Amino acid sequence: MSSERMFQAPEISRYRVGEFAVTVLSDGSLDASLDLLDGIDQDEALSLLSAADTSPSSHMNINAFVIEAGARTILIDGGAGNLNGWGGRLMPALIAAGYDPLQIDTILLTHGHSDHVGGLAGPFATKSFRNVEKFFLHQAELNFWRNEERRDAAPVAHQRLFDVARNVLDAYQQQITPFEDRDVLLPGITAVHLPGHTPGHSGYLLESEDDSLLIWGDVLHFPHIQVARPDVTFAFDHNPGLAAKTRRMILTELSRNNRYVTGVHFNAPVRAKIESDKDAFRLTYDL
Ligand SMILES: [Zn+2]
Repeated sequence: MSSERMFQAPEISRYRVGEFAVTVLSDGSLDASLDLLDGIDQDEALSLLSAADTSPSSHMNINAFVIEAGARTILIDGGAGNLNGWGGRLMPALIAAGYDPLQIDTILLTHGHSDHVGGLAGPFATKSFRNVEKFFLHQAELNFWRNEERRDAAPVAHQRLFDVARNVLDAYQQQITPFEDRDVLLPGITAVHLPGHTPGHSGYLLESEDDSLLIWGDVLHFPHIQVARPDVTFAFDHNPGLAAKTRRMILTELSRNNRYVTGVHFNAPVRAKIESDKDAFRLTYDL
């Protein structure tokens, strides 16, 4: 038993993207099984994992990102906040990375699912990041989670997703700044609408001094499987067909531009490059 790990220090990676300093940190993980994938059988999924030297896991990593951009300190997504016992390690990870939560003055949200917003607010719409001045999200995402009829028509388990998202939107009501498709939000930071997983699901493209990095939410849930088979969708995709189309489009763009990308459900808090491989793609983590 002595070899059992009793404590795991937060995992942190840092990259410079021109003038930006990007820190990728893990909030922990959530329970996930290959059964959540649609359009692939277990054997093929397992063989794609082993071809990528990755072992199957019952957990899915949750990343969040801090960007130092001039005088601003930006947080992208907020982890799961220990809802359902998932994630909840964002605060210790931020502190281990040298950030005080009070330094965060801007939030960029990829989408409103609980594993991305759970850590942004506590009960009764209490902000986790009190000094946030601007909270950016896509207009379609705001409309979706605020839609009363949609919430009431959803199964009870899904109504909870709405309640968690609304608690966060209520907390930051005064700071919310919706954007459309490919808006430049801040110098060198462009929103990239990547719809399908949710209506307003978005990534953020950082560009500075010939360097760039795309940060997305949920284009890939099981990265090695869904790059090899971009048509494989995920149980929580709002519009699976559109999610698959968006996935193929953005993977094609990344492979052509040889651009770095990182995402909330990459297997570790790291970035990656995408290469095209006949009709599919390959992902290589920059470890
Ligand atoms: Zn997610």
